[in-house]
Amino acid sequence: MGTYGQKLVGDKKDRIIELLNKALADEWLAHYQYWIGAKVIKGPMKESIAAELLQHAAEEMTHAELVADRILQLGGTPVLTPADWLKYTNCGYEKPDDAFVKAILEQNIKGEQCAIEVYNNIMKETHGVDFITYDIAMQILKDEVEHEEDLQALSEDLELMFEYHK
Ligand code: FE
Ligand code: FE
Ligand code: MG
Repeated sequence: MGTYGQKLVGDKKDRIIELLNKALADEWLAHYQYWIGAKVIKGPMKESIAAELLQHAAEEMTHAELVADRILQLGGTPVLTPADWLKYTNCGYEKPDDAFVKAILEQNIKGEQCAIEVYNNIMKETHGVDFITYDIAMQILKDEVEHEEDLQALSEDLELMFEYHK
């Protein structure tokens, strides 16, 4: 972004870049957690669950794209090395030690709930200060809310099936 575009954001610019870099680290970790989860997953309905996980993995990449572009526009440097993902992350990384469908879903639901918190907070911090970041955070927040809902719906289907087979 040009100089005036950056100046408009004012004193909070560095803070916003920091928030965005933390979110960027989260997105890459979420991407990999979904992607590897889809590979190792075991148990009933694993095909349809893996398809959803892969779709979410792709969507987390589009979030990374939006966030990194905004960091650059603000004159910041997006996280340059994977080693920093675990340093900056808000939501961490849940290693899928237990590949059972239910366990994988639970881990990713937890991740989505954290992501919802993160973007909700970015919206609060940028409201009235940086409307572009605010708008990007809202776009992403909508996806994360949908992700949580999709995973919880799959988890409920599994529960119903387990119930039926008791
Ligand atoms: Fe995301
Ligand atoms: Fe998500
Ligand atoms: Mg989905």
